[in-house]
Amino acid sequence: MSLSLNARTRLLVVAPHPDDESIATGELILQVRQAGGEVQILLLTNGDNNPWPQRWVERRLRIGADERRRWGERRRTEVTQALAQLGVTGEALQPLGWPDMGITRRLCDQLDASVEMVVQCLEAFRPTLVALPALGDHHPDHGAAHVLTRLAVAGADGEAPRMLAYLVHGQEVTGKGRVKLDSSVGIHATKMAALACHRSQMALSGKRMRRLADRGERYQAVRGTSVAAESAVLPWQPSRLLQRWLRLTLVDERGVRQWPWRQAPLSMDGQGRYVLHGLDPAAPGPRFLKLHMNLPSPWIFDRWGWCEL
Ligand SMILES: [Zn+2]
Repeated sequence: MSLSLNARTRLLVVAPHPDDESIATGELILQVRQAGGEVQILLLTNGDNNPWPQRWVERRLRIGADERRRWGERRRTEVTQALAQLGVTGEALQPLGWPDMGITRRLCDQLDASVEMVVQCLEAFRPTLVALPALGDHHPDHGAAHVLTRLAVAGADGEAPRMLAYLVHGQEVTGKGRVKLDSSVGIHATKMAALACHRSQMALSGKRMRRLADRGERYQAVRGTSVAAESAVLPWQPSRLLQRWLRLTLVDERGVRQWPWRQAPLSMDGQGRYVLHGLDPAAPGPRFLKLHMNLPSPWIFDRWGWCEL
């Protein structure tokens, strides 16, 4: 699949953290600007909960609330500089200031208010194209950002934009609906110059950041359809040993439902797969389910993450 960009293209990039816009969509932003189109960045967090790079750069061990806020401000300045490299002015940046590493909690505790903030952005900017994090991204903020954006697109007035999902953390899935962006040496060099503006991140993880940004920009087209059903087969087969710590979180336009795994309305089908029951077939819009573990862990990435039902 290819992308045609022109002066009528209005691109909204939903970025959970400063640097996602450069890593995942730097060339797309540049090409929309070169075609005469408009770009806006919805920045969900300031990337303030980032203790290891901060310890490294600031040579301090203890990171309190004040240090975190300062770090977030620093990263906001960096993203503004990166966007300037990409031909986007500071007014195009819409920062929401949500807690870094807290988007999943926000989604569970304040679903309607959070979706509404994204809806307002969509209705004010009226994008024709939305670049959003992939549902299967292993960073929990990214998967949750996908869910919120999809619900907002389904709930916003006006013509639905085309949606392209980008992956930063995790394995790309190959399949239908892949969109690869053509590039050039010059465009790629400008993207890498934008990435370099994120100095706080490059200090400790420059190699990893450059590796992520060096890949060609590829997207997965998102289809905004959902299937009305009372039950759904789950893609996961978690070990029985883990089940006592597992939780399921179901999110759709009607709200959030959560169960400990053992209390969820699950059965097994003839092929040994888990089936979730009790879904409302009349619920409009997309519906998402997350499997996660209830134990505190230093590992920030999702093991199972989200699926769309
Ligand atoms: Zn991110």
